[in-house]
Amino acid sequence: MKTSGIRSTLKEIGVSPVKTLGQNFLHDQNLARWIVDQAQITGQDYVVEIGPGLGALTKFLLEAGARVLAIEKDARLANFLRGHFDTERLEILNIDALQFDPRILFAHRSVKLIGNLPYNISSPLLSTFLRYPSPISLSVLMLQKEMAMRLSAAPRTRDYGALTLRVQLHRRVKYLRSVPATVFLPRPDVDSAVIRLEPRDPNEMPARNDELLLKLIRIGFSQRRKQLRKLLREHTTDWDALASALDINPNARAEELSLLQWIAFANYITPPPRQETCSTPDERFPVVDEDDRICGEAKRAEVHGNNLRHRAVHILIFNQAGEVYLQQRSRGKDLHPLKWDSSAAGHVTVGENYNETARRELQEELGVNLPLEKIFRLTASPRTDHEFICGYRGVVPGEVFPNKCEIENGAFLAPAVIDGWTSARPDNFAPGFLECWKAYRKMYPEPEKSIRPETFSAASDAASTV
Ligand code: SAM
Repeated sequence: MKTSGIRSTLKEIGVSPVKTLGQNFLHDQNLARWIVDQAQITGQDYVVEIGPGLGALTKFLLEAGARVLAIEKDARLANFLRGHFDTERLEILNIDALQFDPRILFAHRSVKLIGNLPYNISSPLLSTFLRYPSPISLSVLMLQKEMAMRLSAAPRTRDYGALTLRVQLHRRVKYLRSVPATVFLPRPDVDSAVIRLEPRDPNEMPARNDELLLKLIRIGFSQRRKQLRKLLREHTTDWDALASALDINPNARAEELSLLQWIAFANYITPPPRQETCSTPDERFPVVDEDDRICGEAKRAEVHGNNLRHRAVHILIFNQAGEVYLQQRSRGKDLHPLKWDSSAAGHVTVGENYNETARRELQEELGVNLPLEKIFRLTASPRTDHEFICGYRGVVPGEVFPNKCEIENGAFLAPAVIDGWTSARPDNFAPGFLECWKAYRKMYPEPEKSIRPETFSAASDAASTV
């Protein structure tokens, strides 16, 4: 829309632009087309647009063939858009984008995020939409220029800081172009810029403890002018040895270290577990027949290499809000590395029964000891990696403490999110989990809004508490 069109439309729908909503409307059509081009939209894409306003970007997104979910807080603008674009490929949500749970977007295979963001909420918006695991495969965003420079900054620059590293840990960020205030009506007080964010392959960065890494970064940048040796002295007894091992200037400040050097720093202080110390290749599993009767035993590698039937447990741990903890398997696992899986799972070893294994695995993988309820059984098949599986569930009243040997990452997710994710992107999951989730949903098809521990006290024929 040209400036005259924007003025007359705003008048018609009774909107005088609100500064706190960042209502600056783009009137440069070429720039709008260029921004959409950067997202390389195809007909397969599901695009979420934040703050569509009068539809400057929406128009080109629809022309490119995408399905668009546009989230607009101002009801008058949302109503205008409903009347203006007559296509089933556009859905308009009249809500605050900060109230939207992006994880329901896992139900679509390819999701892109686009928007000329309202600048006063761009920081919380980015935190919400880019939180790991994120369903978004590409983002093209117009932001206040300072913010765009901070997100895309390189080491040893003024803009490089804790925010830069937090975002770049999981994403590659590219500063695409600066945008003057003159392309908007009304003109904002600040300049803008367009950036592109693409998720990194999880193997692109070395294994590390994110919690420790982000803590060190936060402390390191808390006083930018101070040397790290002073700020982080509590974390290492011999700073000079650390600096020499990492090949960094012993008097370095936070902004001098690249992301890889920060990771090396965290790993020097607390080395990530080495796979040799995590795996137990000599562990012996009972081998079973087609009726799950024990008929021998064999080493882990032999069982998996020869597809011998064996036994396993899968445990689903819920929080008080009824969300399920899913773990992302460690990158060092011999089977299905980096795939998403049940809260905890593992093999029955020689001399153990299913219930004993469930209790042990829960303690080993999530560091908790809880009452568990046995809820389903699966027969061994190629889809379960030849495992007879007993499924359990339990409720955790507080936190879980994932074992880094086993677990790369994890998150509590609503069952409806997992339904959408497993059906749109089954390749993200360990095959055994897909079977377990199907079995669980057969028994509990309704979303469980809130799960209280009492729910688990009643044992039935099909379910027993261990
Ligand atoms: N995309 C349009 C354009 O380029 O002309 C408008 C961009 S304008 C910078 C920001 C838009 O975000 C406005 O339409 C405003 O009403 C909307 N908005 C502001 N806060 C919002 C929020 N919390 N959730 C969703 N939309 C919001």
